Amino acid sequence: MKMMLEKSALYVVATPIGNLSDISLRALEVLAGVDAIAAEHVQNSAHLLAKHHITAKWIRLHQHNESAAAEKILSLLRAGERVALVTDAGTPGISDPGAILVQRVREGGCRVIPIPGANAAVCALSAAGISDPHFLFYGFLPTKSGLRKRALTGIQSYPFTLIFYEAPHRILESVTDMIEVFGESRRITIARELTKLFETIYCGTLAETLVWLQADINQQKGEFVLLLSGAEMPEESGISEDARHTLSCLLAELPLKQSVKLAAEITGENKNALYQLALNLKSSEPGF
Ligand code: SAM
Repeated sequence: MKMMLEKSALYVVATPIGNLSDISLRALEVLAGVDAIAAEHVQNSAHLLAKHHITAKWIRLHQHNESAAAEKILSLLRAGERVALVTDAGTPGISDPGAILVQRVREGGCRVIPIPGANAAVCALSAAGISDPHFLFYGFLPTKSGLRKRALTGIQSYPFTLIFYEAPHRILESVTDMIEVFGESRRITIARELTKLFETIYCGTLAETLVWLQADINQQKGEFVLLLSGAEMPEESGISEDARHTLSCLLAELPLKQSVKLAAEITGENKNALYQLALNLKSSEPGF
């Protein structure tokens, strides 16, 4: 098996996000064939591999030692070894360590080979029935409410689905902040415990969702992906997406007239059109 793998290559291997069977044949082949596996938590990854009768030489790589681990892995690769990178769940580098290692290995002249598989955001999107073809993957929001609302305000006018990861102890706070910034009527899909026993996919307005979460403490437990619908595009404005974004950021901090004046200067867009858009945003979004 080892002979089939490329020498001096780093394999970035996606692993399951819950159900241990969600792993590709190619991923198993690679994990069985490499000389070493870099993992966030060796115990968790060893448990997955044991299910598939794979043993490994392990290297610890997590967010606090990634640079040092990257140097060690690069020297193994330069000596001709094959190394795999896994994280606790899903695709490495997606709200997980991996980017520093990948960058270092590529700079060092070795090959990086992705082995695709599970990812919580894409898994949630695939079952949410959202017809908007565009989405923005945001990942984790700031943990403090003030910073979180500021981050949300910055993306308030984006006209595509916004995808967040959230921890169970912050789910109520985050939905509450979303109501404050986006208003009660934006739609959200909550994808909880995907691929696991208590998998739940709920869809409603932000206000309905908060009530639903509060009504059953069990729905506040586990792992969450939040998919928030994008901003409605105001009709007939013809204003560029960049100008809309600039105007929303200014509106979050300044009075309407000043925001419009500055937005017109910054973006070169028509002042009257920006003024109309600002009024629309003000009336549709209670956050302004
Ligand atoms: N690398 C992973 C990926 O590709 O999706 C993400 C890792 S990040 C540290 C963990 C977060 O992903 C969780 O807090 C949760 O928001 C989301 N997540 C992971 N597994 C999930 C699952 N089974 N159901 C819902 N969300 C999940």
